[in-house]
Amino acid sequence: MPGMIAYIGLGANLGQAQVTLMAALAALAQLPDTSLIAHSSLYASAPVDATGEDYVNAVAQLHTQLAPEALLDSLQTIELQFGRVRSYQNAPRTLDLDLLLYDQQIIHTPRLQIPHPRMHQRAFVLLPLLEITADSVIPGHGSASAFLSALQTQVVRKIS
Ligand code: ADP
Ligand code: MG
Repeated sequence: MPGMIAYIGLGANLGQAQVTLMAALAALAQLPDTSLIAHSSLYASAPVDATGEDYVNAVAQLHTQLAPEALLDSLQTIELQFGRVRSYQNAPRTLDLDLLLYDQQIIHTPRLQIPHPRMHQRAFVLLPLLEITADSVIPGHGSASAFLSALQTQVVRKIS
């Protein structure tokens, strides 16, 4: 059956961030009409312009027949399942799932922008993306590796 290749950026920085990311990858693999083709290693990066725990990040590559907005709905459902500390109101989100790329399409709707508008500025996105797809191209921008080269002040380290 035909399908699209989509890339998802995963991030967490509260609680058991590595455990949360692994559980989120498993949840992506369970999405309907979707298969998890590959995922990167986990990476750690210091928060930008903030204090607190290091962020843990990864990128997943999906093959999916879900339309972009349906895929975003699914990502937001997983964020809610895994991403909130349950004990108090407005607790900080522990999981962020961003739809980075959808089959080289450029999409601008009120709730969805693809490519993700800040991905080319974030080493914690580009490094794991390039680990699984070394020749990745960001539509409207260009080669992901060229953008990563310009972000050498952002320290990102592989943790597993
Ligand atoms: P961040 O930009 O730090 O990931 P949020 O996850 O809080 O911030 O942003 C969520 C909002 O971003 C949602 O309301 C969603 O509709 C919107 N959005 C726009 N484009 C995208 C995308 N490509 N992936 C995920 N969310 C997106
Ligand atoms: Mg997000």
